[in-house]
Amino acid sequence: MKVLVPIKRVVDFNVKIRVRADGSGVDLANVKMSMNPFDEIAVEEAIRLREAGTAEEIIAVSIGPQKTQETIRTALAMGADRGIFISCDDELEPLGVARLLKCVVEAESPELVILGKQAIDNDCNQTGQMLAALLGWPQGTFASRLELDGGKARVTREVDGGLQTVILKMPCIVTSDLRLNEPRYASLPNIMKAKKKPLEEKPAADYGVDIAPRLKVLKTQEPAAREAGEIVANAAELVEKLQNEAGVI
Ligand code: AMP
Repeated sequence: MKVLVPIKRVVDFNVKIRVRADGSGVDLANVKMSMNPFDEIAVEEAIRLREAGTAEEIIAVSIGPQKTQETIRTALAMGADRGIFISCDDELEPLGVARLLKCVVEAESPELVILGKQAIDNDCNQTGQMLAALLGWPQGTFASRLELDGGKARVTREVDGGLQTVILKMPCIVTSDLRLNEPRYASLPNIMKAKKKPLEEKPAADYGVDIAPRLKVLKTQEPAAREAGEIVANAAELVEKLQNEAGVI
């Protein structure tokens, strides 16, 4: 069984985001970039399936500018078998990404596609759902547990107020939530080995699909600065302040 794992290169989750002075977006100059954390979880899950003997091949695919190849190499160092790099310098929306991924799915025929539930840069949480719709495949989103058995995927989903279990007929789409697993670090020998793993490259334009943006960002702004806290002497003073200063009780 082949597993396809789409991964996105995003601003590292530890970086304090700076908004460009003209409000046109986030400043990416000299900013550390990494694999989207939910995608690391997706890669880890695919590797565990291969280790369990369920999956045979793991393909990591990413769409973005040239440096995106580094992120694919990270997935290869974690344990993916080969990479597909779709070069594209323009910022893509989830529909454009899903259309390109659909082409990759049609070319590779995986039984399972594991995406992150959302990219932490745009927080869209749309690509997996759109890909499932474009392919007409079942989807199990926000997975905290995945079990494969006899052509079926049993996905435990994190929903408001609890867990929901769905059974999907494969081929299917799964999107990873935080508690699905804890991704491994790539070891130095595996980082070296990853340099030799196959990484195919193709420009996005060669897929012949419409990836034009549908949205226009009007403005990006920093959240309002938080006011400093205050230490109170006792509960009575806290209640007094909440009543008379904050006016919340
Ligand atoms: P989003 O819908 O943008 O929040 O992204 C959800 C998931 O779609 C990510 O966690 C990735 O698995 C996948 N994805 C989004 N953008 C890309 C991209 N440029 N290349 C590959 N996969 C992507």
